Amino acid sequence: MTPLLEERIISRAYDCMKQASQALGRDFLPPRVLFTQRGRIAGSAWLERWELRFNPILLADNEPEFISDIVPHEVAHLVAFACYGKVKPHGQEWQHIMRSIFKRVPHTRHQLDISKVAPTFSYQCECRRHQLTLRRHNNMLRKKQRYQCLYCNGILKKVSAPSAQHITSS
Ligand SMILES: [Zn+2]
Ligand SMILES: [Zn+2]
Repeated sequence: MTPLLEERIISRAYDCMKQASQALGRDFLPPRVLFTQRGRIAGSAWLERWELRFNPILLADNEPEFISDIVPHEVAHLVAFACYGKVKPHGQEWQHIMRSIFKRVPHTRHQLDISKVAPTFSYQCECRRHQLTLRRHNNMLRKKQRYQCLYCNGILKKVSAPSAQHITSS
């Protein structure tokens, strides 16, 4: 990915923050912006870290969607957190910020072509959701290997419902 593309995304994120500052009459620090998001997720907002992560593979092919929707979507998560604390990720506060400040229809999920990014598979233990790579997923299917959660030691089980992404990701 070219540095210029990263710069355009970072400056879009800063512009969104400024828009939110003006609309709400309060200052927000510019977030840290990384390009380390993997899998089918286009972007994620790390609330306490005040950090945004974007998917470089999806970004390379979909800059217009990132500029128009995905960057404001993730910035809105940070703004909602700063203003209202831990609220429902795509609840009314977030939707209101998307509509009234960024003038976007609040979509929960992106519609990008994900054929270039490696699929991941959702598994669940007692305490959290895990995303497994295709290789690990195949090992589980062939019963060659069972994977345990590092936190609760529970055996990971396949989640049958369509995968819910990281709560603040799109
Ligand atoms: Zn666990
Ligand atoms: Zn989201």
